[in-house]
Amino acid sequence: MSALADLQATALVCTRCPLANGRTQVVFGEGDPHAGLLVVGEGPGREEDRLGRPFVGRSGQLLDRLLAEEVDLQRGEVYIANVVKCRPPDNRDPKPDEIASCRPYLDAQIDLISPRVVLTVGNFSTKLLLDTTDGIRKLRGRAYPFGNSGAVLVPTFHPAAALRGGGEVLAQMRADFVRAKRALAGDPV
Ligand code: URA
Repeated sequence: MSALADLQATALVCTRCPLANGRTQVVFGEGDPHAGLLVVGEGPGREEDRLGRPFVGRSGQLLDRLLAEEVDLQRGEVYIANVVKCRPPDNRDPKPDEIASCRPYLDAQIDLISPRVVLTVGNFSTKLLLDTTDGIRKLRGRAYPFGNSGAVLVPTFHPAAALRGGGEVLAQMRADFVRAKRALAGDPV
């Protein structure tokens, strides 16, 4: 079994935090384990919890569309993960201790997949991986060095924000996805 499959097997029976009590199933993440692009969201919603797959609801449909239209990639060509692997009750925000409990899984996914570009969608993954309290509005619009292997992190809004907020947010997301495409190609960002 691959190290990523091992990690998934461990995560699927995880009881490290109280989110384990309310979940239908763990949403570990999915995609190409050798992907150049890793997308990191917040946590599973209702559809994700039901199906055991990340970003399969309305936000996921928009994510798939932006990946296809702006990055020229289908979802099977990237890897998609979340900060927390279990659905918070009623889709509330994940709590700091839940994020901390789940962090080793995300860190190990990043190590094993070793992406060239990490696209963080929304506040939770962006703040966590950039280790900052600044918000997404301030952080998006540029790329950041990430890790020790020359990778870059490109922050953008969560697709749910575009679904709520309309055209301006969506246009900024498109620009961020293009930034991720350029970073993947090794072009200046
Ligand atoms: N929102 C997220 O942040 N992640 C998912 O997997 C689905 C919706």
